Amino acid sequence: MRCPYCGSLDTQVRDSRPTEDASAIRRRRACPDCGGKFTTFERVQLRQLVVVKRSGRRVPFDRDKLLRSVEVALRKRPVEPARVERMVNGIVRQLESQGETEIASERIGELVMEGLKGLDDVAYVRFASVYRNFREAKDFGTIIGELSRDAETASSGKPEAAERGRAEVAVLPSRPLRGEG
Ligand SMILES: [Zn+2]
Repeated sequence: MRCPYCGSLDTQVRDSRPTEDASAIRRRRACPDCGGKFTTFERVQLRQLVVVKRSGRRVPFDRDKLLRSVEVALRKRPVEPARVERMVNGIVRQLESQGETEIASERIGELVMEGLKGLDDVAYVRFASVYRNFREAKDFGTIIGELSRDAETASSGKPEAAERGRAEVAVLPSRPLRGEG
Protein backbone atom coordinates (compact mmCIF):
# COMPACT_ATOMS: atom_id res chain seq x y z
CA MET A 1 0.00 0.00 0.00
CA ARG A 2 1.53 3.29 -1.14
CA CYS A 3 2.13 5.90 1.56
CA PRO A 4 -0.35 8.75 1.06
CA TYR A 5 2.16 11.28 2.38
CA CYS A 6 5.43 10.53 0.60
CA GLY A 7 4.45 7.93 -2.00
CA SER A 8 6.74 5.25 -0.63
CA LEU A 9 5.68 1.70 -1.47
CA ASP A 10 7.35 0.34 1.63
CA THR A 11 4.60 0.88 4.27
CA GLN A 12 4.08 -1.63 7.06
CA VAL A 13 1.00 -3.00 8.80
CA ARG A 14 1.22 -2.33 12.55
CA ASP A 15 -2.16 -3.59 13.61
CA SER A 16 -4.98 -5.52 11.93
CA ARG A 17 -8.40 -6.16 13.43
CA PRO A 18 -12.04 -6.47 12.47
CA THR A 19 -14.33 -3.47 12.88
CA GLU A 20 -16.97 -3.68 15.62
CA ASP A 21 -19.60 -5.20 13.35
CA ALA A 22 -16.99 -7.44 11.71
CA SER A 23 -17.95 -6.15 8.29
CA ALA A 24 -14.43 -4.94 7.54
CA ILE A 25 -10.80 -5.33 8.56
CA ARG A 26 -9.14 -2.20 9.84
CA ARG A 27 -5.38 -1.93 9.38
CA ARG A 28 -3.10 0.61 10.99
CA ARG A 29 -0.18 1.26 8.70
CA ALA A 30 3.05 3.18 9.11
CA CYS A 31 5.57 4.46 6.63
CA PRO A 32 9.21 3.89 7.60
CA ASP A 33 10.36 6.51 5.09
CA CYS A 34 8.43 9.53 6.39
CA GLY A 35 6.96 8.27 9.66
CA GLY A 36 3.42 8.88 8.46
CA LYS A 37 0.57 6.76 9.86
CA PHE A 38 -2.67 5.91 8.12
CA THR A 39 -5.54 3.43 8.24
CA THR A 40 -6.98 1.19 5.56
CA PHE A 41 -10.19 -0.84 5.49
CA GLU A 42 -10.72 -4.11 3.74
CA ARG A 43 -14.36 -4.70 2.87
CA VAL A 44 -16.41 -7.21 0.97
CA GLN A 45 -17.36 -5.82 -2.40
CA LEU A 46 -21.09 -6.26 -2.47
CA ARG A 47 -22.89 -7.09 -5.63
CA GLN A 48 -20.13 -7.88 -8.01
CA LEU A 49 -22.78 -9.32 -10.25
CA VAL A 50 -22.12 -12.37 -12.35
CA VAL A 51 -24.11 -13.14 -15.46
CA VAL A 52 -24.94 -16.78 -16.10
CA LYS A 53 -25.25 -17.31 -19.85
CA ARG A 54 -27.56 -19.82 -21.44
CA SER A 55 -24.51 -22.03 -21.99
CA GLY A 56 -23.86 -21.97 -18.25
CA ARG A 57 -20.76 -19.82 -18.71
CA ARG A 58 -20.30 -17.10 -16.09
CA VAL A 59 -19.04 -13.64 -16.93
CA PRO A 60 -18.80 -10.48 -14.81
CA PHE A 61 -21.76 -8.17 -15.30
CA ASP A 62 -20.74 -5.33 -17.61
CA ARG A 63 -22.89 -2.20 -17.54
CA ASP A 64 -21.25 -0.80 -20.68
CA LYS A 65 -22.07 -3.95 -22.58
CA LEU A 66 -25.69 -3.70 -21.48
CA LEU A 67 -25.81 -0.05 -22.55
CA ARG A 68 -24.31 -0.90 -25.96
CA SER A 69 -26.88 -3.59 -26.70
CA VAL A 70 -29.66 -1.16 -25.75
CA GLU A 71 -28.12 1.51 -27.99
CA VAL A 72 -27.98 -0.91 -30.90
CA ALA A 73 -31.70 -1.53 -30.53
CA LEU A 74 -32.32 2.23 -30.33
CA ARG A 75 -30.13 3.10 -33.32
CA LYS A 76 -31.51 6.15 -35.17
CA ARG A 77 -34.59 6.20 -32.98
CA PRO A 78 -35.65 9.56 -31.54
CA VAL A 79 -34.97 8.78 -27.90
CA GLU A 80 -32.96 11.12 -25.70
CA PRO A 81 -29.70 9.63 -24.40
CA ALA A 82 -30.63 10.78 -20.90
CA ARG A 83 -33.71 8.55 -20.96
CA VAL A 84 -31.61 5.62 -22.14
CA GLU A 85 -29.16 6.29 -19.33
CA ARG A 86 -31.99 6.35 -16.78
CA MET A 87 -33.40 3.12 -18.11
CA VAL A 88 -30.04 1.36 -17.86
CA ASN A 89 -29.47 2.74 -14.37
CA GLY A 90 -32.86 1.43 -13.36
CA ILE A 91 -32.05 -2.02 -14.68
CA VAL A 92 -28.73 -2.10 -12.84
CA ARG A 93 -30.41 -1.03 -9.60
CA GLN A 94 -33.02 -3.74 -9.96
CA LEU A 95 -30.31 -6.32 -10.52
CA GLU A 96 -28.28 -5.08 -7.58
CA SER A 97 -31.23 -5.06 -5.23
CA GLN A 98 -32.54 -8.52 -6.02
CA GLY A 99 -30.26 -10.12 -3.44
CA GLU A 100 -28.61 -12.59 -5.79
CA THR A 101 -25.05 -12.27 -7.02
CA GLU A 102 -25.66 -14.49 -10.02
CA ILE A 103 -28.15 -13.39 -12.63
CA ALA A 104 -29.43 -15.40 -15.55
CA SER A 105 -28.84 -13.56 -18.83
CA GLU A 106 -32.52 -14.19 -19.58
CA ARG A 107 -33.47 -12.05 -16.58
CA ILE A 108 -31.44 -9.12 -17.94
CA GLY A 109 -33.05 -9.57 -21.33
CA GLU A 110 -36.51 -9.43 -19.79
CA LEU A 111 -35.66 -6.23 -17.90
CA VAL A 112 -34.29 -4.62 -21.06
CA MET A 113 -37.44 -5.56 -22.95
CA GLU A 114 -39.59 -4.06 -20.20
CA GLY A 115 -37.53 -0.87 -20.30
CA LEU A 116 -37.54 -0.56 -24.09
CA LYS A 117 -41.27 -1.14 -24.23
CA GLY A 118 -41.69 2.12 -22.36
CA LEU A 119 -39.13 3.97 -24.48
CA ASP A 120 -39.68 3.00 -28.08
CA ASP A 121 -41.78 0.30 -29.74
CA VAL A 122 -39.44 -0.18 -32.68
CA ALA A 123 -36.41 -0.63 -30.45
CA TYR A 124 -38.42 -3.03 -28.34
CA VAL A 125 -39.29 -5.21 -31.31
CA ARG A 126 -35.72 -5.08 -32.61
CA PHE A 127 -34.33 -6.16 -29.27
CA ALA A 128 -36.98 -8.80 -28.76
CA SER A 129 -36.41 -10.27 -32.22
CA VAL A 130 -32.71 -10.69 -31.52
CA TYR A 131 -33.07 -11.67 -27.91
CA ARG A 132 -35.86 -14.17 -28.34
CA ASN A 133 -34.49 -15.15 -31.73
CA PHE A 134 -38.10 -15.64 -32.83
CA ARG A 135 -37.59 -19.35 -33.10
CA GLU A 136 -41.29 -19.89 -33.04
CA ALA A 137 -43.91 -18.09 -35.08
CA LYS A 138 -45.97 -17.51 -31.96
CA ASP A 139 -43.23 -15.22 -30.65
CA PHE A 140 -44.28 -12.64 -33.22
CA GLY A 141 -47.85 -12.94 -32.13
CA THR A 142 -46.89 -12.60 -28.49
CA ILE A 143 -44.87 -9.43 -29.08
CA ILE A 144 -47.49 -7.84 -31.29
CA GLY A 145 -50.15 -8.81 -28.82
CA GLU A 146 -48.25 -7.12 -26.02
CA LEU A 147 -47.79 -3.96 -28.07
CA SER A 148 -51.42 -3.92 -29.15
CA ARG A 149 -52.64 -4.20 -25.60
CA ASP A 150 -50.41 -1.28 -24.65
CA ALA A 151 -51.64 0.72 -27.64
CA GLU A 152 -55.26 0.13 -26.72
CA THR A 153 -54.80 1.29 -23.18
CA ALA A 154 -52.41 4.14 -23.99
CA SER A 155 -53.53 5.65 -27.29
CA SER A 156 -56.52 7.88 -27.79
CA GLY A 157 -56.11 7.72 -31.57
CA LYS A 158 -56.56 4.82 -33.94
CA PRO A 159 -55.40 1.58 -32.36
CA GLU A 160 -55.97 -0.36 -35.58
CA ALA A 161 -53.57 1.78 -37.57
CA ALA A 162 -51.04 1.60 -34.78
CA GLU A 163 -51.30 -2.18 -34.75
CA ARG A 164 -50.78 -2.40 -38.50
CA GLY A 165 -47.70 -0.20 -38.33
CA ARG A 166 -46.22 -2.26 -35.56
CA ALA A 167 -47.02 -5.53 -37.27
CA GLU A 168 -45.04 -4.40 -40.32
CA VAL A 169 -42.09 -3.56 -38.14
CA ALA A 170 -42.21 -6.86 -36.34
CA VAL A 171 -42.61 -9.06 -39.39
CA LEU A 172 -39.80 -7.38 -41.31
CA PRO A 173 -37.18 -6.81 -38.62
CA SER A 174 -34.17 -7.02 -40.93
CA ARG A 175 -35.37 -4.52 -43.51
CA PRO A 176 -34.99 -0.76 -43.10
CA LEU A 177 -37.80 0.48 -40.95
CA ARG A 178 -40.24 3.10 -42.04
CA GLY A 179 -39.32 6.64 -41.10
CA GLU A 180 -35.77 5.72 -40.37
CA GLY A 181 -34.27 7.34 -43.50
ZN1 LIG B 1 5.65 7.97 3.78
